[in-house]
Amino acid sequence: MRQGRFTVQKQAKSGIMRSLLSFLLILVMIAGADSFPSGRGSGPLTVTAEAASAPYMKITCIDLGSARSVYGESVLLESGGQFLLMDTGSKDPQNSVTAYLKKRGVRNLSLYISHFHEDHCDYAASIIKDSWFHVKRVYLANPDPVRKYLSSRYKQSRRKLYKSCKEYVDRYNGILSAARKKKIPVTSLRRGKTFTVGSVKAKVLWDQNTRGWGCFDPYDKDGVGFQNNSSLVTKFTLGKRSFLTCGDIEFSTERDLLASGTNLSADILKLNHHGMWTSNLASFVKAVNPCYCFYSYKNPSDSDYRRFGGSTETSSTLRRLAKQYNILGCRYNGTITYTVQYNTISVSAQRHIKKKSIKVKNLSNGKVRTQQLVFNDAQPLFLDKRMLFSGTKLVTGNAQDRTPAKSSWVKDSKGWRYRTASGKYLSGGWKTLGKNIYYFTVSGYRHEGWLKVKGKTYFLNRLGIRQTGWQMIDGKFYYFSTKNGAMLTGKTWIGGTIWPLRSDGSLDLSKKDAPDINITTSEHRHTTRK
Ligand SMILES: [Zn+2]
Ligand SMILES: [Zn+2]
Repeated sequence: MRQGRFTVQKQAKSGIMRSLLSFLLILVMIAGADSFPSGRGSGPLTVTAEAASAPYMKITCIDLGSARSVYGESVLLESGGQFLLMDTGSKDPQNSVTAYLKKRGVRNLSLYISHFHEDHCDYAASIIKDSWFHVKRVYLANPDPVRKYLSSRYKQSRRKLYKSCKEYVDRYNGILSAARKKKIPVTSLRRGKTFTVGSVKAKVLWDQNTRGWGCFDPYDKDGVGFQNNSSLVTKFTLGKRSFLTCGDIEFSTERDLLASGTNLSADILKLNHHGMWTSNLASFVKAVNPCYCFYSYKNPSDSDYRRFGGSTETSSTLRRLAKQYNILGCRYNGTITYTVQYNTISVSAQRHIKKKSIKVKNLSNGKVRTQQLVFNDAQPLFLDKRMLFSGTKLVTGNAQDRTPAKSSWVKDSKGWRYRTASGKYLSGGWKTLGKNIYYFTVSGYRHEGWLKVKGKTYFLNRLGIRQTGWQMIDGKFYYFSTKNGAMLTGKTWIGGTIWPLRSDGSLDLSKKDAPDINITTSEHRHTTRK
């Protein structure tokens, strides 16, 4: 808790006084974001005036209204009087976003574009050109993944894909030139990049899908999913609390993020791709383990965004998640605001919300307290469940409350490692996992390909699995002991026949026909990776 300038609390002598003040503070927070001190405010209470100077993070999912002409996503992050507008929604004749910003008195701001779909950035140029605003900086997603498909080769063979990719790059260039005309600095965000908004630290966790189009989403004929999977994934942190936003990523990037071992945990999650069925794997949301989720709405034709009820796939995803997580949607709940201060999160929304007082237990110190929480009123299942578990579960969540990670394969630039449930990596020699045997280096990386250990030669396929029996490697046949995996050489008795193996282990095909083997065994997919 950073409270250096919180003088009222500092001067409090007794413990009772201190807890009374904290209690008052929480009450102020619960009262709703509109009445919450926001750096510019001058509340009548001394407590609120002092609290105004304490670090805060305010996240607002702006309701773009119900007009069919405007749709998409726009989220405003505020800290220390600085503003970052993350995505701008579609072209908007009604100017919903700017109307909101003007009403809130926002003039100086930076823009952040998660990816180049129209529902996320078509309004960006209007904001840049609007003389009311002073855009300080524009943060842009990585256009390189789609740019790759602008070659004449794809113009001929993949016309739909080429057309979409051109559209995305054109949007990128449009924003870039609007910014340059006004001499606004542009930052291209890449994985690992950090920046700040007031007291909030931002870190980019991912900036593109690494597999290229077509390898994993064969249904994605025109590259829409490909572009979604190239969205920026950024975590914003203030103190112990954080907010994760991943644009429109779909299952494949969610799986890549899980496999990469990236720390995804966050207290507030913007559900991926507007909460749609293409995204939000149970394992992904579980890895984030959020206290609060929200979604922006994509398109007015998605009428199921009105409620969690309904029969389409979209709402079934939301209904599934709603059983475990506190979810608000801006189509249904209007503009939603989460305010983080003193490691506490308060929530407010325009409509369809219920406030409930429930008992929560802090798992790190065992203290039970009553807390008022804001829920979506269309979320009865969630309420029942949390009410049931309210005595044992810390609803506001913290690091100690996170469920420990299961054992899993983890990839980084040096290769694959295997992290056990206790968080350690396997290393230093042969290890058996399930039915397979792997070799790990001293630094814990899985070996792939040829390997010499204690004078014996082995072959581990590209999944790191030690091979036995006949194998075809680079067009040559080799035989590996079915007992210990060691490669055999010389004239060798195998399966009732003598085989002429050379001293390098390869079969001399001038003396004997190739063995009858199934070479597909080393090509099977990675099934253990979660
Ligand atoms: Zn979208
Ligand atoms: Zn998209």
